[in-house]
Amino acid sequence: MEHVNDAWEPFAQANGAPGLSPRRVVGESIWSFVHGSTVQHLWQLVFGRARVERKALLLPYRCDGPGVRRYLEMELVAPDGVSVVCTSRTMREEPRPVVQMLLGDGERSGESLIVCSWCNRAQLHRTWVEIEQAIDELHLFGVARPPSISHGICDRCVREVLR
Ligand SMILES: [Zn+2]
Repeated sequence: MEHVNDAWEPFAQANGAPGLSPRRVVGESIWSFVHGSTVQHLWQLVFGRARVERKALLLPYRCDGPGVRRYLEMELVAPDGVSVVCTSRTMREEPRPVVQMLLGDGERSGESLIVCSWCNRAQLHRTWVEIEQAIDELHLFGVARPPSISHGICDRCVREVLR
């Protein structure tokens, strides 16, 4: 990344992500912060589209914290057809009881729960549901060693992104 704005650092701190402080991200490839080959591939398609279309693309997404559902919108624009400027705006926030599993600390079971990188829903069998529902149905509430969280993308978001 070439540059982040002044809002970056307070957001990273408030969301327990000191690893995303500006001194750690500026100068690094953005792709080293996008986990999972499918998710990375989709973001690369979006960047490609912004470069070719040369008009602002708007992508809604979720960026939840353990105690908040956060609905954001990212605007991507490539004024010179090369650099892509990504601007995120928080459209709406809904406080919720803290989801302990989303706190980065504590021992994990070795299993993983897949969460969609775009909409933050969790995979439950063959469907995607809010993480609270997955925790409930998988009886994960209060377990000593919950699964770790890994990121993927749900079918609905793939369709949205590729549309
Ligand atoms: Zn999704």
